[in-house]
Amino acid sequence: MDTSKKTNNPAYSRTDQTPVNVTDEQWKKILPADVYEVARKKGTERAWTSPLENLHDVGTYYCAVCGNALFQSDTKFDSGCGWPSFYQPISKSSIIYASDHSYGMDRTEVMCGRCKSHLGHVFNDGPPPTHLRYCINGVVLDFEKAKEAEKKYNADKQ
Ligand SMILES: [Zn+2]
Repeated sequence: MDTSKKTNNPAYSRTDQTPVNVTDEQWKKILPADVYEVARKKGTERAWTSPLENLHDVGTYYCAVCGNALFQSDTKFDSGCGWPSFYQPISKSSIIYASDHSYGMDRTEVMCGRCKSHLGHVFNDGPPPTHLRYCINGVVLDFEKAKEAEKKYNADKQ
């Protein structure tokens, strides 16, 4: 797990739910270039480049920018589109939505509900029960295996 990207990121927290207000100039200094390009400039990573695309481990996917919990592994599916895909976010407030008419297409953009970082898009061709496909750039996701999260949770309680 690459934790280096969080060392200089005061906004990153797995527990703090308060909205993040960081200027673009600050993000540019805080985030690695590839994360900044997708999260703040609404870029798209190249298809099939994310190691998370093929990951089937049980755990939780967090926003790599702010640590907000976004998706559980049991809602992840093999979409064949080249990016990590999910059919449902963890909660309604995990994600915010916006119309995206860029590139002559009519799409719905999905952003992190806490820091408003661009994550990807949602489409209507997913599997049941939601029939949605959240197509997410792997570079803006942090994955933590269930066991590791559980251990940390228990350690924090003591
Ligand atoms: Zn976030």
